[in-house]
Amino acid sequence: YAPRAGCPLCTVASAPNPPALATPRVSCAHASGDPAPPQIIWKDDNVTAYVETNNPVSSKGHVIIALNLHVPSIYAFSSADIPLLVHIQSLGIHLLRSLDPASSSPPLRLSPAVPTTLQPPRCPEPFRIGFITPPFRDSKIPITDHVHAHAFIGPPHLAGWFRGVAYSSLAWYSIDDLIAEIRESTSNNRVKSSYPSSDHTTPTARPIDFVPSAGARSGGADGAEALVHPIPLP
Ligand SMILES: [Zn+2]
Ligand SMILES: [Zn+2]
Repeated sequence: YAPRAGCPLCTVASAPNPPALATPRVSCAHASGDPAPPQIIWKDDNVTAYVETNNPVSSKGHVIIALNLHVPSIYAFSSADIPLLVHIQSLGIHLLRSLDPASSSPPLRLSPAVPTTLQPPRCPEPFRIGFITPPFRDSKIPITDHVHAHAFIGPPHLAGWFRGVAYSSLAWYSIDDLIAEIRESTSNNRVKSSYPSSDHTTPTARPIDFVPSAGARSGGADGAEALVHPIPLP
């Protein structure tokens, strides 16, 4: 995955140091109406995170966690990337806690020692961490083809209806679900018990609910099967 020229996230990811740690530079870019430079709050070998200050969807906090590599699609993820996804999930929770005024956790320290566990915690309410799946994207954030997670403290009340579609169940792929999907696709647990709805308001639906004949049988009430080739009894 080579950097793509002109990709805003490749530019951010290639910044040598978080600006907070670098020498403050005199700039009038913000005053002249240009977007403020990204406020990078995390950088490690795999990801770079910054606070979305120009067009956050929530006034409580909106962080973008970008892969350092220019990976164009979340569908490039495989089971080998589960540790990375779990890292993004843990990091997102950690960063949102550091932004959340309602949280009493200690302030963020720039350290790569984010605890990752084998079974990640579900993203706690009201935090939301996930990806916007193509062809949807956040119309206010000029990133097109560089994989990045959005982490914000819900609800996305600053997004209007049009932008809100990208954060609705139509386009939103929560990182919890993505991790579960990849795990499921590489394990024997084919039937998942439930899909938590991404916005936590609509009823949950299970994949098996979409198979009309799942669990159905044809036969008599006495147990006699009417199938052409019934499974022979011992
Ligand atoms: Zn890029
Ligand atoms: Zn986005």
